[in-house]
Amino acid sequence: MPETRVAVVTGGSRGIGRGICEELARLGLAVVVNYATRPDAADEVVAGITASGGRAIAAKANVGSAEDRDSLVAKTLETFGRVDVLVNNAGITSQGRKDVLEATEESWNVVFDTNLKGPFFLTQRVANEMIRLIGEGAIPSGKIINISSLSRFAVSVNRADYCMTKAAIGMMTKLFAQRLAEQNINVYEVSPGVIASDMTAPVKEKYDKLIAEGLWPIRRWGQPDDVAKAVAALVQDYFPFSTGDVFNVDGGFHLRSL
Ligand code: NAP
Repeated sequence: MPETRVAVVTGGSRGIGRGICEELARLGLAVVVNYATRPDAADEVVAGITASGGRAIAAKANVGSAEDRDSLVAKTLETFGRVDVLVNNAGITSQGRKDVLEATEESWNVVFDTNLKGPFFLTQRVANEMIRLIGEGAIPSGKIINISSLSRFAVSVNRADYCMTKAAIGMMTKLFAQRLAEQNINVYEVSPGVIASDMTAPVKEKYDKLIAEGLWPIRRWGQPDDVAKAVAALVQDYFPFSTGDVFNVDGGFHLRSL
């Protein structure tokens, strides 16, 4: 069995995904840096990892496309011969951020394809490969980590499709956790709060103010590294008797107080 574990990180080229790729590479995993449209960003992540002595490749694939998901898995297996970790991180926000009374099917379709259908069928595909690899003794176990959001429970009336996909990621995590436990594959949900990235750049001023006012107890922006550390803890097997759990990385936003 080759020593190096292999992680596929969807949307690994920017923001939270980039932080996860870099953290997993620091742990010694070989990383498949998936991206959809920006090869320059993915190449930069790969270059940084290889310059530090790690192993990484960039892999273009729209997670919403069945053909692209197949090619992502094929490229991973052709290059590294195994897959130990899948991080379903790629995601997009609601297109146009329209009020729930004005929301469009165009946004619904692309948000559901990217944030829910893609992760579901990629998980199904990768889980089957992991089961085969475990059966052949090529890998000892598997880990699947789904990145949801505080939008899984917090209502934003101008991002209905986004909120619904993130709520569904919770059930998807439980379904696969239940199904895959006997195969030695643990499945987790990591739920970030507001994290500084390209996705949140357009709403920076709004959140600067809300954070200063104490919208969540730890009064600062979340950073991609905060999410990456949680993923790293799960990948390092610090929760071997846990599966189907959700880990909040949100500065305490989920707390209710009186
Ligand atoms: P981001 O900065 O906008 O980066 C998105 C990444 O996903 C990019 O690497 C992008 O690649 C990739 N991507 C987009 N559509 C894709 C597709 N169809 N197929 C494959 N890759 C695709 O976003 P982020 O803020 O890091 O968010 C990452 C994840 O965390 C998302 O699931 C998001 O919902 C979740 N999240 C974010 C926050 C936050 O505050 N930022 C909070 C909670 C949850 P290209 O550049 O090549 O398009």
